Amino acid sequence: MDDPTGEVTDLLQHLIRNACVNDGTDESGGEAKSVDVLTSYLDGSGIDLERYEPLPGRASLVGCIEGSDPGAPTLMLMGHTDVVPVNPERWRHDPFGAEVIDGEVWGRGAIDMLNLTASMAVATRKLADAGYRPDGTLIYLAVADEEALGSHGAGWLTEHERDAVACDYVVTESGGIRIPTPTGTKLPVLICEKGTWWCTLRVRGTAGHASQPLRTDNALVKAAEVVRRIAEYRPETRIHDTWRQFVEGMEFPPEMTEPLLSAEGFWELCETLPMLGLARQAHACTHTTFAPTVIHGGLKTNVIPDRVDLEIDIRTLPAQTGEEVQTMLREALGDLADEVEVLHAADDPATESPADTPLWDTLQRVTDALVPGAKNVPFMTVGATDARFFRRQGTVAYGFGLFSDRLGFDEFSSMFHGDDERVDQESLRLSTELWQATAHDLLGG
Ligand SMILES: [Zn+2]
Repeated sequence: MDDPTGEVTDLLQHLIRNACVNDGTDESGGEAKSVDVLTSYLDGSGIDLERYEPLPGRASLVGCIEGSDPGAPTLMLMGHTDVVPVNPERWRHDPFGAEVIDGEVWGRGAIDMLNLTASMAVATRKLADAGYRPDGTLIYLAVADEEALGSHGAGWLTEHERDAVACDYVVTESGGIRIPTPTGTKLPVLICEKGTWWCTLRVRGTAGHASQPLRTDNALVKAAEVVRRIAEYRPETRIHDTWRQFVEGMEFPPEMTEPLLSAEGFWELCETLPMLGLARQAHACTHTTFAPTVIHGGLKTNVIPDRVDLEIDIRTLPAQTGEEVQTMLREALGDLADEVEVLHAADDPATESPADTPLWDTLQRVTDALVPGAKNVPFMTVGATDARFFRRQGTVAYGFGLFSDRLGFDEFSSMFHGDDERVDQESLRLSTELWQATAHDLLGG
């Protein structure tokens, strides 16, 4: 296999410089620029290319190497082309400069997830150039709008262009970072993601003159108490299947494993764990979380406010329903529950794929060859990815990738939507080889 490092670095630099920043508005993103780059990169290699653009500028690209056996499985490699906004003042280098410094490519999207979007494209191109004739079909999808709600990207494609993106298996972001343990390196494969239940809570009061505040019904004062109760609420700990499989797969010593698998004392463990990143992760993986994030209210300094709206970011665990969340909210609010109205709840439940699938076996075999001695373990992401659209239509979807040992778990996690995002070139090479080997193993040919 010839070394793909230069090619994948070059493509990643183009994608970073395109700055497809998605701020959640329809006019942002501009992913068509990166679809243009990817189209010219993949064109002429015998890959069938199709472009979809539900709104001007919000383009996605599907590339396909057709399999010879209609009974064989279809694998999709899916990467998004959009990125989240940056505050350039906090960066040590230009976030859209894509400079290579000391073997690392700097820029917004270098980890989330233009690194993988680029390496998937290079792998697909190299397979096609080598005359790859698989039994099963290989699809490459460069998708828009992952960083908002996917409604101009994966959500739109799975709804309106079902046949173009139909597949048995999807691999996308963001697992595979190395976790060293006493029993060897473990690589998390994301098989599950939490759901979101974003809502607005309206707190009402009675308007009046603010020069006489005694015994008034002030919506802002009430809202402050609502925020305090939600922040202090302790939902029950749930040791669900994916968490159990992860902890068991990590092969920690029993004195570590037992507390991580016992609901009793779990909250206290998270509160006292010195590694803050790990504590937050362990807590979020085993609890419904409630984060008050936005407050709107009040009219004028001298008017007692009669209405305050609070936005709460709630993340749900697998199998948890909207009714359950409402019950928890009432429990959190206690005697204030009747004074709070729930508006605009957006229910997007958690999704999961089984861990005992041919794709799982493929990824472990391929990992064995590329990172000798490393073992894959099932894991969940507490954020949301485009995998959810595919899991909901019955596709097995995992988040994976391969990274060098230059990158630690905490550093990796903090670079998602963080400052000074960058990826080393050895990681880019490893991922490119991962995708090629995965296609060969799963699809034959
Ligand atoms: Zn991402």
